[in-house]
Amino acid sequence: MHLLLVEDDPRLVRLLTRLLTQDRHVVDSATTAADGLEIANAAALDAIILDIGLPDGSGFDVARQLRADGSAVPILILTARDAVASRVEGLDAGADDYLVKPFAYEELLARLRALGRRPPPRRGLTLRAGPIVLDETDRRVTVAGEPVDLSQREYAILECLLRRPGQVLSRDQLLDQAWPYGAALTPNTVEAYIHLLRTKLGPDGGAWIETVRGVGYRVRAR
Ligand code: CA
Repeated sequence: MHLLLVEDDPRLVRLLTRLLTQDRHVVDSATTAADGLEIANAAALDAIILDIGLPDGSGFDVARQLRADGSAVPILILTARDAVASRVEGLDAGADDYLVKPFAYEELLARLRALGRRPPPRRGLTLRAGPIVLDETDRRVTVAGEPVDLSQREYAILECLLRRPGQVLSRDQLLDQAWPYGAALTPNTVEAYIHLLRTKLGPDGGAWIETVRGVGYRVRAR
């Protein structure tokens, strides 16, 4: 998942960025409400992890602004306040879920998975295309039951494609989804990673990643 972490506690940002990246998520971070909004408006995000107390405003305001701008990206609010009023305010502001600090990292992951499954609803925690199975719980990929060792970026690209079976994603869309915001890359980079990904998936798996000439890439729907 491409995640944005809006949090002003530098230690928490470092820790969560490290853990989430190890778990193969693409992570952007912002320490102010203004930077958070800027990245949220520019990047192709799967979810936002949003702190309430920010130096230049509250997470509630960020959530309200995003919803007012028409963004439907799932928002998970982090709150240090275990008060009912605070949680209600967060949900009313347009957040989808909340987590009270301090929290267990595994719970954060579970809630992100749940958010990622909201629209469109899916069954189970695996994404599939032909012989390719991506398990979102343990973040492993197999082809015909054989484990495939993918790099973080290859995994992120495959996940993007598998989430939208049959849908063509342009190189720019893949760059926005699978790389952090503002990464200095060219569409040729995407091409190179697709090539690596196909090679690692082998002939049976790689054949499911189709090139649509002049447009982009898609995973075969069936
Ligand atoms: Ca804070």
